[in-house]
Parts: sequence; structure tokens; C-alpha cells
Amino acid sequence: MRIAIFGPPGAGKGTQARLIAARFGIPHIGTGDMLRAAVRSGSELGKTVKDVMESGRLVSDELIGEVVASRLAEADAAAGFLLDGFPRTARQVEILDEALAELGVDLDRVVVLEVPEEVVLARMVGRSQLGDEGRFRADDREDVIRERLRVHQEQTAPVAAIYGTRGLVTVVDGSGSIEAVFERISESLQEIAR
Ligand code: AMP
Repeated sequence: MRIAIFGPPGAGKGTQARLIAARFGIPHIGTGDMLRAAVRSGSELGKTVKDVMESGRLVSDELIGEVVASRLAEADAAAGFLLDGFPRTARQVEILDEALAELGVDLDRVVVLEVPEEVVLARMVGRSQLGDEGRFRADDREDVIRERLRVHQEQTAPVAAIYGTRGLVTVVDGSGSIEAVFERISESLQEIAR
């Protein structure tokens, strides 16, 4: 099962992605998580992306494209994967197409989580005060949250439209409890589960 999950920042995408990956036994490839780990480790990649991430803007397509392409080529992704946070721009869609073509596989489905903007803002401001799973995120300040939502609208929402024209999109209502959303997503993926 090769899937990608889309949704605005604060839609609960990361949480759902981890649950879905565990249920279907596929690796969770979260680009935000990978980049945050790189920043924490102080690697060259981390140093390159730190400032851009903290501003709420996107790191370059070519850079993140390389990170994802090499991750997809790892053995544990051969039988399937869940992409979370990638692709986020039209150029990243092309980069992903090329990487998948090289591996001789295709995306099976793109899950789009839909959550009203006021809900997203309220959840994210709450997360920045409480800390997400105890971890502080430098990009969770309210001004940065607004910037991330703006970037999402401008660059990422059109990416879902590209997959829509390919007939790959399933829209899932992302409101309600974590469990309720998880059930909706799992159900929408039943037919392609193998
Ligand atoms: P996320 O946790 O997915 O919201 O990602 C956090 C930050 O990492 C984003 O605001 C970007 O700065 C960077 N990032 C993650 N994924 C990508 C991507 N596919 N393209 C560009 N930047 C990304």
C-alpha cells in the first residue's frame, strides 16, 4: 500500500499518519519529522534547513526531494509506505513521480484530511502552549502558524488538486476525536489494503 496523506498544518495529520502506518504495517515517512530530527542531530542537512523551518516556509524542492527519494529506496519501503508532508508543491509531485518511476511503483491513494481553518488554528495554538507530545516546536508560535497556513493554501492545496485529476484522492472529514478520524481513514483505505 503506497499512500500519501494531506491536510493543513494542525489537521492532526502526523498523529493519523503514525496510526495508519502502524495499522497497515508500512513505514511512516514524515518529512517534517525527518527534518526536525536532522536539526536536532546538528547534521549538515539540519543546519541548512533550520532557519527556513523556523520561519514556517518550505525548504527547497530539490533538497527535500533528494531526502525523500533516498528514503523511498530503502528496503523497508519496498512493500509500501505512507508519505506525510510530501509532496507539498507541484515540483515535488514531479520529483516523486520520477522517484516512483525509477522504483517501478505508483501511489495507490492520496488521503486528504479536511478540517475547517478555525479548528486548525485553535488546535495549533493549543499545541504550542501545551507542547506536542512534550516537545517544543519552534514553528508553533501563532505568527508562524498563520504563515504555515498561508503557505499551505498557496502551495500545497493545489497539489491535492493534481492528484484529484488522477483520480487518487479520498477526502476524509478530519474533525472530531483522534479515534473517529482514524476509523474514517482506515475505512477509506480498506479496499486497497493488502
Ligand atoms: P511539517 O511537520 O510537515 O509541518 O513540516 C515542518 C516544516 O518542515 C515545514 O514548515 C517546512 O519548513 C519543512 N518541510 C517539511 N516537509 C516539507 C516539504 N515536503 N517541502 C518543503 N519543506 C518541508
